[in-house]
Amino acid sequence: MKKALFRVTDAVVVAAVLLAAFVCLVLARGGAPNGKQAVVHVAGQSPITYDLSVPQTVTVAGLHGHSLTVTIQNGQVRIAESTCPDRVCVHTGWLSRGGQAAVCVPSGVTVRVVGGSDAVDGVTA
Ligand SMILES: [Zn+2]
Repeated sequence: MKKALFRVTDAVVVAAVLLAAFVCLVLARGGAPNGKQAVVHVAGQSPITYDLSVPQTVTVAGLHGHSLTVTIQNGQVRIAESTCPDRVCVHTGWLSRGGQAAVCVPSGVTVRVVGGSDAVDGVTA
C-alpha cells in the first residue's frame, strides 16, 4: 500500500507540474493549444508520454543496446538519431498528426502521436 501511495503522490506532482507548464504555454499562445502528445514506447516497458508543446530532446534506451534520440519541436516529434542498423525510424522524419508513428524494429522503440482533434484517453491499442 505504501509503495502504491508514493507512486500516486509522484504522479500527482508530475501531473501538476505538467498542467502548470501547459497552462502557461496556452496562456502565452493566446489560447491555441494543439493538445497533442508523443508516446514513446520501448518494448517491455511502460510507455512515456511527452507534451508536443514542450520542445525537448530525449534519449531513449532501446533493446539490444541501441540508443535513440527523440526530438520534440514546433509541435512535432521525430527520431533524430539512432544506433540501429537500418535507420528506417530516422528516415520516417517528423510526425505531427495524431495516429502518425515512427517505428524502430531493431531497438523495439515506437514513437506515436496521440491527441489533437480527437483527444482519446485510455485507449492503448
Ligand atoms: Zn531504427
